[in-house]
Amino acid sequence: MSEIIDGKKISAQIKDEVKEKVAAYAKEGIEITLAVVLVGNDPASAVYVNNKKKACEYTGIKSLSYELPEETTEEELLELIEKLNADDKVNGILVQLPLPKAIDEQKILDAISPLKDVDGFHPQNVGALSIGKKGYVSCTPFGIIELLKRSGVEITGKNAVIIGRSNIVGKPMAMLMLRENATVTVTHSKTVDLKNVTNKADILIVAIGKPKMITAEYVKDGAVVIDVGIHRMDNGKLCGDVDYEAVAPKCSLITPVPGGVGPMTIAMLMQNCVNSVEIIKAAK
Ligand code: NAD
Repeated sequence: MSEIIDGKKISAQIKDEVKEKVAAYAKEGIEITLAVVLVGNDPASAVYVNNKKKACEYTGIKSLSYELPEETTEEELLELIEKLNADDKVNGILVQLPLPKAIDEQKILDAISPLKDVDGFHPQNVGALSIGKKGYVSCTPFGIIELLKRSGVEITGKNAVIIGRSNIVGKPMAMLMLRENATVTVTHSKTVDLKNVTNKADILIVAIGKPKMITAEYVKDGAVVIDVGIHRMDNGKLCGDVDYEAVAPKCSLITPVPGGVGPMTIAMLMQNCVNSVEIIKAAK
């Protein structure tokens, strides 16, 4: 029978550690500020942004909120980012995705200074990760590494299989697992005989975006299973990309949904805000 990896507990520990570091910086007269930019009226984005602001409040990070109307143009948003890039008081800039269709998302992400890119989406930070240089790491995969380490999972030498190759989760996850000395396989929608590949995984990380797709026959006995997916079911409850009830009895450790990967993303955003102090200092 599996043990649960408790993302709520681990994320709370990380936020407490961040809070201590923020307080220590405050004693040195250093204030950490995150600028949070929300464009449009997407209700899910509004909830995410609110949760990020609450985490800032808890940890002592100052948050500046920019809530812009749906009709905001690309130029207007770029202007705001330029202003925030130039503002020495701002450590981190977060533009909540998705953006309205009229705005080119990649253009906006590219415009954020790589030194303030606390989401880790800027090409410079993506590149730094792939060649093992210091920089910001995308929060969800960064959080998964913390979940594994703080749950005592040995990563070195293990077969890690990642399902999904998105820029936000799958690809940076693969780079991080490689950095931790796993033998990494990345699978995706064109992978042939997915079950055969996933059955070799000691650590299976699932980021497909399809509710409960991963059933017991995809999973090796005793595997560690990390479920990144998050979906609202017709009954109002949340579920992941993994069929938890069917898979849990087979693995050694598993993340639940909710309460697994989800809470880690915001905790690592807070961690990246703290890291910004050193990253900005090193560039001066
Ligand atoms: P995405 O849609 O960008 O990517 C999905 C990936 O799955 C693609 O690379 C695709 O090739 C692969 N895929 C699709 N069908 C497949 C199949 N049948 N077999 C194998 N691979 C297949 O999604 P994403 O942004 O990486 O997010 C994945 C999931 O994680 C979503 O449910 C999303 O909501 C969730 N998510 C959660 C958090 C969090 O904080 N918990 C953060 C980001 C994403």
